[in-house]
Amino acid sequence: MRLSQLFARTLRDAPADAEAPSHQLLARAAYVRQVMAGVYAFLPLGLRTLDKVADIVREEMDRAGAQEVLLPILAPAEPWKLTGRWDAYGPDMFKLRDRHERDLGLTPTHEEVLTPIVAAEYSSYRDLPVNLYQVQWKYRDEPRPRSGILRGREFLMKDAYSFDRDVDGLKVAYAKMVEAYKVILDRCGLTYRIVEADPGLIGGDVNHEFMAVAEVGEDLFVHCSSCEYAANVEAATAAIAEAAVPGTAPLETVRTPGRTTIRGVTELLGLEPAELLKSMAYQADGDVVLVLVPGDRDVDEGKLRRLLAPAAVRMLDDDDFANRGLVKGFVGPQGLDDVRVIADHRVNARGEWVAGANEVDQHATGVVFGRDFEVERFEDLAQVREGDPCPRCGGDLKVGRSIEVGHTFQLGTRYSVPLEATFTDEDGSEQPLVMGCYGIGVTRVVAAIAEQHNDEHGLAWPKAVAPFGVVVVLVNRDDERVVAEAERIYAALLEAGIQVALDDRESAAGVKFNDADLIGFPVQVVVGKRGIDAGQVDIKVRATGEKRQVPVGQVVADAITALEGAP
Ligand code: ATP
Ligand code: MG
Repeated sequence: MRLSQLFARTLRDAPADAEAPSHQLLARAAYVRQVMAGVYAFLPLGLRTLDKVADIVREEMDRAGAQEVLLPILAPAEPWKLTGRWDAYGPDMFKLRDRHERDLGLTPTHEEVLTPIVAAEYSSYRDLPVNLYQVQWKYRDEPRPRSGILRGREFLMKDAYSFDRDVDGLKVAYAKMVEAYKVILDRCGLTYRIVEADPGLIGGDVNHEFMAVAEVGEDLFVHCSSCEYAANVEAATAAIAEAAVPGTAPLETVRTPGRTTIRGVTELLGLEPAELLKSMAYQADGDVVLVLVPGDRDVDEGKLRRLLAPAAVRMLDDDDFANRGLVKGFVGPQGLDDVRVIADHRVNARGEWVAGANEVDQHATGVVFGRDFEVERFEDLAQVREGDPCPRCGGDLKVGRSIEVGHTFQLGTRYSVPLEATFTDEDGSEQPLVMGCYGIGVTRVVAAIAEQHNDEHGLAWPKAVAPFGVVVVLVNRDDERVVAEAERIYAALLEAGIQVALDDRESAAGVKFNDADLIGFPVQVVVGKRGIDAGQVDIKVRATGEKRQVPVGQVVADAITALEGAP
């Protein structure tokens, strides 16, 4: 590839709205161009890297015994209505009508498309197991499609689906996929953690997320500093705190005019937030549920939703407060009628609390569990945070930011039951297929690699995913000997099967050096007049910054060695 011919115009500045480093760099280095919010075109450089990631994924899926298929993006609504996801995805799913007024959707994932196909082809336990995968575009009308290809509304996913007779079979298929995922992410050069996760809209039971560690990540995960425990904060559990001895202070009220926040009250009364009881009021179908957590913590709404499922949970609005006779900003669990009270375990670990007094401008002190208020149950309801004890070993939990690049689910019969996808078992009985599903965001992996492999000069791809392995930078186009040497090196590297680019543009040397760094070729071979006069060529390894001068006669072999040695 000659850069003079390559369809790539690098940009000095990133697009104004690009915040994530990967978004800025992939745009500046001419890998992608935005077409509209959350929708991107891949230019030649971007496509080469995307294909490399996709090929790594394919190789490891094939090795794990999965077979590639290609499912349509345009799907009929009926199976989605049967599984309940037509409504559950709501506006996140792109929905349209055909000329016959039939409801169609653009697939956000493919369980509803593939499961009926497998059920139609296979009817007996003898056919099972089978694992099918594809690399296909997905469509989700994400509410905040920021961060470039990290979160698109159109994105490429590898999705695999395993079909087994029973849970034992599923576990085997699942373990194979987890192993394959590790190899894929290692080969892509990603630093990642496998965490226990919340199943979200996919449903099912056991599931794990593969989190690429990155500052821009939207997902917080906790990991133990002493053992292997790691979980998405949404799924992290806390060690259960020991119950405290109940306090003996009398229940009294204090005036706290206008102090409706934790901060307002603690400042006025000279308390620590942890001494205050936070009482959050939610509506769960017909019930008002008061959720108690220590004042220095927030309610984890994901955990709350799971606890109260299938009830629809939302926070009370001002009208609800008024209708229920609750005093917003001064709510406490004492003496409330018709309100369910549930509390985080940690509420049991303090003998007395300061809480809202259920009167305007008043708080109560000496609020004691068992004496002044009761709870329906203690549950794990507060957000986990740095320094909390590990639920496995009691060690210190740490919090990190990360990008979810993969997600594996043991679905069980979540889809096969509503879709009536069954097989005949050995004893002649009709059984639902036992399923697993396994996703990797291929476009997101490209962005995650870019997040982890860059510096102030640009991208520094691991060689496994770089669009080209080597760039030959022709510095002085006006010098025939330099041109001849550069052309010779370029041709010899091509001949040796190296993916090589030749920067033969008319640009100034500085522009070429900057672009070589920005685009992130793992190895740069710099052919310039001064070097050639001395019979030397420079070789630079992008990721390590290591530079060497080598004799012209040796450069091809040395460039290949440098590439082999590059990360
Ligand atoms: P997120 O929580 O980031 O929205 P998700 O949990 O909804 O993702 P899954 O349904 O688990 O995503 O999809 C499988 C994989 O597809 C994810 O692990 C991620 O790598 C990728 N993915 C999901 N949504 C997007 C998106 N909007 N853009 C790019 N990749 C995505
Ligand atoms: Mg997920």
